[in-house]
Amino acid sequence: MKGERKTPPAIKGTQDILPPYVKKWQKAETEAKGLFELYGYKEIRTPVFEPTELFQKGTGPTSDIVTKEMYTFVDKGGRSLTLRPEYTPSVVRAIIEHRLYLQPEPLRFYFIGPMFRYDKPQKGRYRQFHQVNIEVFNEKDSAIDAEIVEMADILLHKLGVSDIEVLVNSVGCKKCRPSYHQELKSKAQAQKELLCEDCQRKIETNPLRIFDCKKETCREVSQEFPKIIDFLCSECKEHFEKFCSYLDSYQIPFRVEPRLVRGLDYYTKTTFEIVSSRLGSQDAVLGGGRYDDMMTEFGGPDICGIGFAMGMERLLSVMPYRAEKDQFLYIVYLGEEAKKEGMELVRELRREGVPCLIEYKDKSLKNQMSRANKLEATWTLIIGEEEVKSGEYSLKNMESGVQEKVGREGIREAVKGR
Ligand code: AMP
Repeated sequence: MKGERKTPPAIKGTQDILPPYVKKWQKAETEAKGLFELYGYKEIRTPVFEPTELFQKGTGPTSDIVTKEMYTFVDKGGRSLTLRPEYTPSVVRAIIEHRLYLQPEPLRFYFIGPMFRYDKPQKGRYRQFHQVNIEVFNEKDSAIDAEIVEMADILLHKLGVSDIEVLVNSVGCKKCRPSYHQELKSKAQAQKELLCEDCQRKIETNPLRIFDCKKETCREVSQEFPKIIDFLCSECKEHFEKFCSYLDSYQIPFRVEPRLVRGLDYYTKTTFEIVSSRLGSQDAVLGGGRYDDMMTEFGGPDICGIGFAMGMERLLSVMPYRAEKDQFLYIVYLGEEAKKEGMELVRELRREGVPCLIEYKDKSLKNQMSRANKLEATWTLIIGEEEVKSGEYSLKNMESGVQEKVGREGIREAVKGR
């Protein structure tokens, strides 16, 4: 039947990234990698899937990611696996597994790759999306919190992203959060009927999560709730004040946003986001924070951590980019001898770093010339019987239309002179 032969389209919430758009991705990735290396970060790559319990434990059992969004499946060995919805738990696992904390190098890592979340697809929210992540371990001082915000800010400016705002907050620690939770819970209980069903459930499981709710009424109601910043213990308060003062030293404008608790369970002390007014409802280009307890909770040494994750798709949607035209030499030939000569020439030139294209389509010279035109080749090299005999080729500059006879050296001079 006809219908059966149809190729199924890509899964909703996933996208093909096609050339030439890939160039924009490459530009952002290259800038990010270069900058991170400048700050002492090293690339790390971990598997795309992990045991489900890693995220249940790391990302947290009350987070939206774990409760609603994981791509979890049972493999042929009967083991529950999950496509990573975020990166931090994998890095922490890798550090413990390979005992990277014993090495003298600074524990600074970066990573770029796909993440998977079963969320309702919409603009800026996909089921397979890509993140640029950085993580730093074993640095308690809030100077590092400010440094990573500064690094993110520099990256965005380097990529031409403007109209951004840095939002910061502190979510306290194990010591000060319980009393805040208590207070928040009782205030939320008192207003329970005004909250959505989801938030009513959160009152019991994790009242902080109410601040993540995007529903207008919940936002209005929670506006009057107590702020965690007023409940910080002296250690967290000092940490936060210093963080803000270091941001000032770096001359990074920021706004304290008491609602900024972020969707993951593990944050302690600092949380931050960089938002763009050009992004609409999903306005966070990146978000991050401190997670001082995750390593010990995973059975590792008592080493704190901090990091951020930037969404590539959101970044690229606000990043200006003008693709540069590819420069390349297109070989046009006539006859078997000329073809072989052309093949030998492109082999030589490519080895020297000159981008060349020769296509094996057995078409007339006129046809090949018009193809070179369509492809917007920078130069066309014509090899016919005459040229094979003389070793002198016709090189046409496609922009100026000037055509000249050149030998092999002449080709090199012309194309490398650009
Ligand atoms: P999170 O890991 O939830 O803290 O998100 C960090 C960043 O990843 C966000 O600021 C977004 O830029 C990006 N992001 C998160 N979820 C998605 C998604 N479903 N689709 C596209 N980008 C996302």
